[in-house]
Amino acid sequence: MLYPFELEVEATLQSDLHVAGVGRTVALIDRCIERDARGRALIPATSFKGRTRAHYERLLRALGDDLNDCKPPNPATMCNDPANLCRVCQLFGSPMQQGRIEFTDLVPDTPPDTNTEPTTRIGVGINRKLNTVAEGRLFFYEAAPAQPNRFRGQIRGWATETEIALLLGALKLITHFGGQKARGLGRAQVKPTALYIRKNGAWAAVDPAQMLTHLQEVRR
Ligand SMILES: [Zn+2]
Repeated sequence: MLYPFELEVEATLQSDLHVAGVGRTVALIDRCIERDARGRALIPATSFKGRTRAHYERLLRALGDDLNDCKPPNPATMCNDPANLCRVCQLFGSPMQQGRIEFTDLVPDTPPDTNTEPTTRIGVGINRKLNTVAEGRLFFYEAAPAQPNRFRGQIRGWATETEIALLLGALKLITHFGGQKARGLGRAQVKPTALYIRKNGAWAAVDPAQMLTHLQEVRR
């Protein structure tokens, strides 16, 4: 049974944010944070969805689902029969079919007048094998300031109760957003703050912890 649902989440960054922006080319700044129309740094919906999907997939595999051998993100190795999509593609979508859920950007949880200007940093390319600084690998990159470090967003759509429980489980497993993981940037924790499910035509608040209990029941 599919239910309309809305899940509110809070992401807390334990370090500076660093998410590559799409199509931005800035001289000397080879990687960028994405910004909203007001210039605020944010975690784009694609990154939020991508991390959640990866952990959702891992959870299902741990539960013994082979997912029809579906391997995103390359469309060629993903489900290509709309009538026989794996459980991940059914919910998150595949190149063949739209998913049942959508993700918003994770936007800063700060008053609008707070200074959230990113800072430019200098990075040094390290050759890990030789443990030396690789020649000419000095570059600049943008990092959002450590403060504010709290972001808010939503996941909404249609899902079964089991899918919602798995989503909550996947969110708990997220440890970072964006690139530059080796530098310790983008380390994050995501937690659900509110969950609403519409049943019999009425929206009701559901305790996310209770939904996770549902997941444990599924595992048995
Ligand atoms: Zn698939």
